[in-house]
Amino acid sequence: MVILDKYSSIFIANWKLNGNSSFLKDYYEKLKLNSNNCTIICSPSIYLKSLKGNNEYLFCGAQDVSSYKEGAYTGELSASMLKDNNIDFCLVGHSERRQYFAETNDNVNLKSSNLIEENIIPVICIGETLEQKENNLTEEILSTQIKNSIPNEATYQNTLIAYEPVWAIGTGLTPTLDEISQVHELIKNFDTKFKSFKVLYGGSVKSSNSKEINELSHVDGCLIGGASLKVDEFNTIIS
Ligand code: PEP
Repeated sequence: MVILDKYSSIFIANWKLNGNSSFLKDYYEKLKLNSNNCTIICSPSIYLKSLKGNNEYLFCGAQDVSSYKEGAYTGELSASMLKDNNIDFCLVGHSERRQYFAETNDNVNLKSSNLIEENIIPVICIGETLEQKENNLTEEILSTQIKNSIPNEATYQNTLIAYEPVWAIGTGLTPTLDEISQVHELIKNFDTKFKSFKVLYGGSVKSSNSKEINELSHVDGCLIGGASLKVDEFNTIIS
């Protein structure tokens, strides 16, 4: 398992349903890694094998995993298959999966558990919708997501948490720096066990705001969607 404590910050590129072979080749030629950071590229699964991950600073991550271990589940990829292909990280419970694929906290819990068993680090995504925020439900929603989607065996060494307000994903909107700080502190204080967990922020991170977000005391890195598809932009973010 990757030793997370070795890195001062963690940056995850979530390419979502984007990219092709020539995009990937060009991206890797231009990618400039920063040796203080752990950089993880989550490409669509079919390209994971051709990503040049697993050097000291660059890793591959999947965007999802099956909750089943094996059997008659057409189209699925199991945690052990990811491990067999040198994948060290996997996003779980991204809001797009919760929204479009009806993923529940229970699914996220089971998937994360299967990943941990295979020594793959789940990046468990949590976050409130705009409506929930406007109704002052952020704390309650995050608390439920944390209680139900993070498995008991999760520790700060084998699991990452990503706080991604749903309303900030792909919209260009972000919470204020104070709000991000407060929510990250809240997450780390839900239980003494979470104090040492690394918590990443995701939602409209770009080169113009990444530095100030990443410098916040309870932020341990960023999860970047749209801006990670432009390699120059991503290079600036991780630099
Ligand atoms: C994401 O996909 O997790 C994400 C944060 O997207 P964006 O950076 O485009 O808001």
